[in-house]
Amino acid sequence: MGTFDAIVVGAGPAGSTTARELAASGARVLVVDRAEWPRYKACGGGVPLRAERMLPFPIDSVVEDSVSRIEMSARGKMAFTKRSRGPFARMVMRDRFDMLLLEHAQRAGAELRTGTVVRELDLNGRVRIRADGFEAEAETLICADGAHSPVGRMAGLGGDLAECAAWEVEVRGRPRDASVGEATTLIDLGYDPWGYAWLFPKAELLSIGIVLPREEAGQMKALVEGYLERLGLRGAEVEIARGHKIRFRRGGETVAG
Ligand SMILES: Cc1cc2nc3c(=O)[nH]c(=O)nc-3n(C[C@H](O)[C@H](O)[C@H](O)COP(=O)(O)OP(=O)(O)OC[C@H]3O[C@@H](n4cnc5c(N)ncnc54)[C@H](O)[C@@H]3O)c2cc1C
Repeated sequence: MGTFDAIVVGAGPAGSTTARELAASGARVLVVDRAEWPRYKACGGGVPLRAERMLPFPIDSVVEDSVSRIEMSARGKMAFTKRSRGPFARMVMRDRFDMLLLEHAQRAGAELRTGTVVRELDLNGRVRIRADGFEAEAETLICADGAHSPVGRMAGLGGDLAECAAWEVEVRGRPRDASVGEATTLIDLGYDPWGYAWLFPKAELLSIGIVLPREEAGQMKALVEGYLERLGLRGAEVEIARGHKIRFRRGGETVAG
């Protein structure tokens, strides 16, 4: 059985960043992820400049586009554009971005095990994880296993989270195909009772999606269809379409991941 100072479950941005910091400070770290990497992640892929600046390495190699304009609207009406002097966010595809973060964790010394689903925890004394045909133990367990956080739940964490629902499509095209200027991102508000749709440009794709209260999840696909139609993208080639929960806390807590 492998013995470590820390086991990080989940190799997304939260897990790989934690693993990199721990390994860089001399800890023996194991990162375990159930997916084979690189893996697709439903996400707009917008990285605010403030977040980019927190990273101790450049991310240029995975930046697909940068945005300096945001166009806000309410169901397509009352649109206005806010421009900034320079880019305020980078646009990335999460498979490549997350892989870059993970490579830096490995470079710092973290050990990686992918394709490994953590199925059981033993939290008596040192932490022990069990996956199919694999066990490891450590002083510390970090549950960075995403919004559903099955391992966090096994550890009794992640209760009392509010949930909303998201639907995202990756459409082949450039902003001009949707009559949108270059370097521009769209946010469309005004959904009932609340929610928003977005368009984030990538090098060859447009990430388009909607977030609504969980109870309204049944409407998401039709509303995204309507949004695509309004953008002039009806019948556009959809590469990937995915639904996902977004879990969040209400109140003053700090959330990582
Ligand atoms: C539709 C949508 C759009 C979004 N757009 C944006 C955006 O534009 N900008 C932004 O900053 N954020 C956005 N987000 C939020 C962002 O995706 C998340 O905040 C971010 O992915 C969280 O990172 P994480 O490392 O916590 O988890 P994740 O990236 O979800 O990684 C968790 C990892 O844990 C692994 N895992 C899960 N269970 C197990 C298990 N039992 N054993 C082993 N491994 C396991 C998974 O394989 C996964 O790789 C969006 C989210 C959604 C759903």
